Amino acid sequence: MPRPQGAALRLLAIACVVLVGVPAGFAEEETAAAEPSVYRILVTNDDGVDSPGLAALVEALAPLGEVTIVAPLENQSGIGHALNLRDPIFPIRREVAGRPAVALTATPATCVRLAIDQLMKDGPPDLVVSGVNRGLNFGRNAYISGTVAAAREAALQGVPAIAASLDRGRDLDYTAAASAAAEVAALVKEHGLPPTVFLNVNVPISVTGGLKLTHQSLLAGSESFEPQENPYGRPYFWSFFQQPTAEAEPGSDVSAVREGYVAVTPLQAHESAGDVLDGLSDWFGEAEATTTSPAQR
Ligand code: MN
Repeated sequence: MPRPQGAALRLLAIACVVLVGVPAGFAEEETAAAEPSVYRILVTNDDGVDSPGLAALVEALAPLGEVTIVAPLENQSGIGHALNLRDPIFPIRREVAGRPAVALTATPATCVRLAIDQLMKDGPPDLVVSGVNRGLNFGRNAYISGTVAAAREAALQGVPAIAASLDRGRDLDYTAAASAAAEVAALVKEHGLPPTVFLNVNVPISVTGGLKLTHQSLLAGSESFEPQENPYGRPYFWSFFQQPTAEAEPGSDVSAVREGYVAVTPLQAHESAGDVLDGLSDWFGEAEATTTSPAQR
């Protein structure tokens, strides 16, 4: 019966404080909690705990604060905002860039939720940074990205967040992309972010410009399904994804990356289309649209 015992112990502790007074050092601790001197950064990704992009990101962010690493055990690319709701989630101790890390048998969004709820419950993150992903997550790719979903989940939990992705190429060096992500992280540390807004950072292979504030392009990558056959003659399909090639909107993340800039796009985790809502109200009749659910009719 651990709960009643725990409750009794807590009562005893409260009684002791009442009788003996506030223990020395308690007040100081409370002041420290109100004004945290430690800036806690949760680092995650969707490529998996052993990905070189995660290690580079951890090294780049370490000077900014206290880094906690919680990442999927395996590659979760393209998993979007999926959650682990029906399977056990196993924690596995790992090391990333010489630091202790926790790998979870979980999706990126679940990694963020579990880290906040359990692993960092005594010191919640001030910032979540996800990446550095292998492959760009600009334009509409952002919707299927596990890297972006981890940042979106953090934003929904009220924690400022950044997703960082690097273009694909041979012998990728994540150092420059991780530095760019850390540069953005330093700005977020200084200025904060509006509620439910997070930043999506996309880095070209060779950066010739600096950071550029962009909007999200409407372009999507193209996906085709290649028909194949296994050695036993059984047909199967293989999804073949390519980045968008069409002309991009000026000022968008896609055009900025093509021009050699690090694109920084603020994304909104709360997606309610406020400006459309009024226009649609006469479809439904105002009273019904706002007050009556189908179950109540
Ligand atoms: Mn990925």
